Amino acid sequence: MDTHTTTDHLTKENEQGRRSCILCIGPAGENLVRISAVMNDKNRAYGRSGPGAVFGSKNLKAIRVIGNIKIQIKDKEQYQSGLDQALYLLKAVPATKRLFRELGTSGLIELINIINMLPHKNFQDTLHADEDVDKVSGETLAKTVLRRAGACSGCMIACQRHTQIGNKKGEGPEYETDVMMGPNCGIYNLESITRANYLCNELGMDTISFGGTIACAMELYEKGIISKEETGGTKLCFGNSDALEQMVELAAFRRGIGDKLAEGSFRLASCFKHPEFSMAIKKLEIPAYDPRASYTQALGYMTSPTGACHLRGGYAVSLAFFGGPKEIPRFSMLQSPIAIRNMQNLGILQDSLGVCRFTGFAFSTDPWSRIVSGITGLHFSTAKLEKIANRVATLERLFNLHAGVKWEDDSLPERFSREPILVAGKERLIPRDIIDKMRSDYYGVRGWDSQGKPEPGLLKDLDIKEKL
Ligand code: SF4
Repeated sequence: MDTHTTTDHLTKENEQGRRSCILCIGPAGENLVRISAVMNDKNRAYGRSGPGAVFGSKNLKAIRVIGNIKIQIKDKEQYQSGLDQALYLLKAVPATKRLFRELGTSGLIELINIINMLPHKNFQDTLHADEDVDKVSGETLAKTVLRRAGACSGCMIACQRHTQIGNKKGEGPEYETDVMMGPNCGIYNLESITRANYLCNELGMDTISFGGTIACAMELYEKGIISKEETGGTKLCFGNSDALEQMVELAAFRRGIGDKLAEGSFRLASCFKHPEFSMAIKKLEIPAYDPRASYTQALGYMTSPTGACHLRGGYAVSLAFFGGPKEIPRFSMLQSPIAIRNMQNLGILQDSLGVCRFTGFAFSTDPWSRIVSGITGLHFSTAKLEKIANRVATLERLFNLHAGVKWEDDSLPERFSREPILVAGKERLIPRDIIDKMRSDYYGVRGWDSQGKPEPGLLKDLDIKEKL
């Protein structure tokens, strides 16, 4: 069953008439596709690093949750003060107050293009014709395929896009999906991107990794490395939106070339002996912000514990453009390591609390300190939350070191050091010496040694008994 049928089936079986929430995988997860997602209530994706395949490998198809007990709040006054502060700040920042509700996350496309950060053709450059970008922008989405905005439970930001093409209804595309399956594949056809997005949701596939893998395959095809025989006769070239749509199903069911696409871009390109065309870090495809346009974003991708992920590595683009008083220059080598450590720690806190990353556009730790302290009746100061985040980051690093990750893996694909892009009329790339310097400064900020191993003193401070 696909994810929609599974969700409907389990919802119908909910005999007590209570609202249930469903997490499930689709055929992609069942077929152990390495870029498969776990889908939540049909269209929200836990997508990066192949969690769908993890479910599939354990024969776990779905989890249904039915709850009817309200959370008891221990200290209502403290809880309310944190909540009031959070709501005030969410209403004060344009992105959380208006932009995401009106235009969804695709409302970022025009902005990211203006700052020369929007990837094109497997990150070969960031050059797009303005009229092409308009075709896939949040503004165009709002005027064409959008039915209505929506929100996760209780959220005032309301970034969800409920869309429709013909009789087919679904959700998306979000910014990442729109760009990775669109301009990064040389495609500016919003309807086609939306249909491919619907199919990824139904079959349970990560749209970022799928878009990055198709872009890689398109470059391999155009360079004559993948042949027409390999693709079953399909012209897998940049701009071919029919091929994009066709490949979703092939990958999810591992049919034909789809069996290789299902392995993600790194294994795909390696199998054709050209791993350099995979735009991935630790074998995870890079999301839709070109790292050459921001040192801070580049360092976030390099040091994300799960591979190139803007959410785990630090959503640095938000610091450079929506940071308000926290704003830092995007080519600051001095500030990037501390900024990334702070962004990553905030992300760890948000993930540990189970709250949305987009709250970070408006505020960081303080409201959460009051809210969590109010709910639990325990004292979670901002310093204590910071220490918890440092413990998590350190434990993740220890896990990765045990799993064989080396300092060399905290790096970028060669393309970003060799092929410059134009940023504000100036050629920009990330030379190796800057990569090395930022990495080593970041290790220093984290309390790790030159090989990226947490220092004994840090482990003691964080009460971690683990030995390397
Ligand atoms: S919780 Fe996050 S993803 Fe969900 S609607 Fe709100 S801002 Fe969007």
